[in-house]
Amino acid sequence: TPPEGCPPDVEQLGRATWTFLHTTAAYYPDRPTPRQKANMYSLLSSLPILYPCTHCAADLGENVKSHPPDVSGRVGLSRWLCERHNEVNEKLGKPIFDCSIKKTDERWKDGPSDGRCD
Ligand code: FAD
Repeated sequence: TPPEGCPPDVEQLGRATWTFLHTTAAYYPDRPTPRQKANMYSLLSSLPILYPCTHCAADLGENVKSHPPDVSGRVGLSRWLCERHNEVNEKLGKPIFDCSIKKTDERWKDGPSDGRCD
């Protein structure tokens, strides 16, 4: 029998992708260079075209159309991404996440003060 996640299903792919995106946002510079901004914009704009879950990609494309990526700095980017993730959470009936930088940093960068994750 193949190991779990071989091949990854929509949920496993989603968790891995959110981990990558939120972590990358948490470590994005406060004051990115024009090049970093352009590359981040390009990365995020590519998802609706390339993300290998067709209906996820289509919904994300609609979502991003009305909310263009905020690549101005890590605080704005972390919030933008959190809000996009919340729109998926809402659609799937999952809990809504608090998009303050305190909460996103705690989850994706610093860890909670009591040392527990989730
Ligand atoms: P996930 O939603 O994967 O979240 C992982 C962890 O992130 C959570 O445990 C929590 O600690 C943290 N978190 C939760 N919300 C936020 C937030 N707003 N900001 C920061 N951190 C947060 N699945 C579908 O069935 N249909 C879709 O249309 C769909 N679209 C998707 C679009 C994209 C771009 C991506 C990346 C994934 C999509 N998925 C979709 C997958 C879905 O979002 C989940 O990843 C999957 O259902 C697994 O959910 P989960 O409960 O493990 O937590």
